[in-house]
Amino acid sequence: MLGREIYSAFFLEKTMNDTTSDTTEFQSDNLQRFIFDNAPVRGEWVHLTESWKNVTSRREYPVAIERLLGEMMAAAALLTATVKIKGRLVLQLKSTGPVTLMMVECTSKNTLRAFAQWDGDVEDNATLTQVTGEGALAITIDVEGSKQPYQGVVSLQGKSISDVLEAYFKQSEQLETRIWLAADSQSAAGLFLQQLPGESNNKEVDEESWSRLSQLASTISNKELIELGAGTLLHRLFHEEECRLLSSTELSFSCNCSRERVADTIGLLGKDDAKDLVEEQGHIEVACEFCNEHYQFDEVDVAQVFASQISTKTDDKTVH
Ligand SMILES: [Zn+2]
Repeated sequence: MLGREIYSAFFLEKTMNDTTSDTTEFQSDNLQRFIFDNAPVRGEWVHLTESWKNVTSRREYPVAIERLLGEMMAAAALLTATVKIKGRLVLQLKSTGPVTLMMVECTSKNTLRAFAQWDGDVEDNATLTQVTGEGALAITIDVEGSKQPYQGVVSLQGKSISDVLEAYFKQSEQLETRIWLAADSQSAAGLFLQQLPGESNNKEVDEESWSRLSQLASTISNKELIELGAGTLLHRLFHEEECRLLSSTELSFSCNCSRERVADTIGLLGKDDAKDLVEEQGHIEVACEFCNEHYQFDEVDVAQVFASQISTKTDDKTVH
């Protein structure tokens, strides 16, 4: 019954879009979950505009690197939605270059941040291998309050970052998973399908529906991913299936760097090294890679960092 209701909702949206514009009327910076009433398969769609522009406006990336970073950002949102945790998920790509480091973080508070470091020139239409050479992608899930984060690592093999992630799911989970990602200078978007552990006794039927749904999804183009809203896109792909929209989540860019955190890092340098740096440069300047915020510490600030460290140490002594 519910499936049919959604079907008519899709139909309604489709008719509306046919008479107006097909591309503008949808909410971006949003993640939409969906399921199928006639198959044990779950799905997610994500589309980022403002949060993505927040990343690209902070640094001028070469086109191919920007595209890869956008795809990673969409992927991080999709993966975070699949793990029901309080904490954060980090995708970290390390490679021989030109991209040397790429990091994307998505938190359970629905915030995203991302950056890439690179060295040298990259052609606009460079492939994944041309952008990264050899390397690996680490997926870290950091649950609040737990001491040891979970980390999975997969080598950068395949034509795209979605190939890499599908390989990761193949090695880490038994669940069949497909991911489609696309990004340009304006938007980053993704689609995720995963076969759920079937409760039905008919494995053959489950396999058949998985293969049918993933084939339907495979017809999606990058242009459609970037330009269409969830309703229109899912209708286009699955109009003959009983696809049901579940909850949706708003996402935004946010960086939690702070002067206090930078002070902690300077503290780790050690008093002598920090003093040398101030003497050489007049101050210590630290820039946050994610948001490009610059923090400056002059002689007095640095002295304060170590003064507060000493007082903590003295406190420690009194306690013990
Ligand atoms: Zn920051």
